[in-house]
Amino acid sequence: MDIDSKLSDQLRGIPRSGIRDFFELVIGRTDVISLGVGEPDKPTPWPIREAAIRSLEKGQTSYTSNLGLESLRIGISKYVEEHFRTHYDPKKEIIVTVGVSEALDIAFRAVLNPGDEVVFHQPCYVSYGPSITMAYGVPVPINTRLEDEFALLASDVEKAITPKTKVLVLNFPTNPTGAIEPVEELEKIAALCVKHDLLCFTDEIYSELLFDNRKHKSIVEFPGMRERTVLLHGFSKAFAMTGWRLGYACAPQPLIEAMMKIHQYTMLCAPIMSQIAAVEALKQGAEAYEPMRQSYEERRNFVVKRLNEMGLNCFNPGGAFYVFPEVTTATGLSGKDFALGLLQDQSVAVVPGGAFGPSGETCVRCCYATAPELLVQAMDSMEVFVKKHQK
Ligand code: PMP
Repeated sequence: MDIDSKLSDQLRGIPRSGIRDFFELVIGRTDVISLGVGEPDKPTPWPIREAAIRSLEKGQTSYTSNLGLESLRIGISKYVEEHFRTHYDPKKEIIVTVGVSEALDIAFRAVLNPGDEVVFHQPCYVSYGPSITMAYGVPVPINTRLEDEFALLASDVEKAITPKTKVLVLNFPTNPTGAIEPVEELEKIAALCVKHDLLCFTDEIYSELLFDNRKHKSIVEFPGMRERTVLLHGFSKAFAMTGWRLGYACAPQPLIEAMMKIHQYTMLCAPIMSQIAAVEALKQGAEAYEPMRQSYEERRNFVVKRLNEMGLNCFNPGGAFYVFPEVTTATGLSGKDFALGLLQDQSVAVVPGGAFGPSGETCVRCCYATAPELLVQAMDSMEVFVKKHQK
């Protein structure tokens, strides 16, 4: 059978993740220091793991409500109110999902008709474009630039809006750049959403991981935004819970109801042990993530200093756990050739910036949520590599 001819046309046009392609080169190599995968280096804090262990001991292994455990939704409602100054009714305005990944997917599928356009800033998380395409929408990336520290300019958003635009997707702090959005621009972007009657999906997955005493402000907090926003958040990054696969979406009831229909026929519910662990994570709150946040800030300071000292142009990102140095000016190499060369010569893995969109092609992404002693070694090796290729 010609299986290829049986595959969906929609899927055929979607490339594999550039990160995955690159990391197949690393699989099986034990000598490589990886600054590649975007996840915390520490396991989930112990009290959270313990809550899940206890739940298994008690035999809590059932399905939950499609929307998620009520105790978790109540916890989410309190947490979101505190962090984003916005109230959501735990009974009907919150859905617990299998990671922010699922929340994004069901949000797109709940609102998009074929041909609807979705604007988002690029370089961005690798799944946005493909998730939009899989929901039969049209991805419309907006380039952000190193000279703006990858902030999104409201003037660029305005240029990208057409009568077909239905959704704007935001992610600050941003994967892969660590960028944060100036409040003045965010305010103007909110006004554009209201003016053009757009929905806004705001991916807040890194919102706890902010540096230099910054306070987070989400677009949902601006006038006229709550009614048109889906706030997407989860436990993977701040609470070091990537493997638990747990996220959530908060939005007005008709949107949650629509998302719930897709969720109930595909996932049914998120795993109960992960939900119980998440209840504990929210109880712990900043006590669980603050030590990790502080240590990311120290590592960011170290990595940014070293990258600039070796002659790469790297701005000081305000959040997340990524740096996105520009490598082409100093070495003449594209992001891809730099990453391949660094892996071959020095056994250090970083991700070519082009994996996050064409506007990142002269950059590489380094995740510094890696043991500090390995970061020192990785920076020393990168310096040797940069010296060899200095223009
Ligand atoms: N959004 C962004 C911006 C991310 O970086 C990631 C994970 N790398 C996700 C969503 C998906 O996270 P989750 O583990 O909650 O599915």
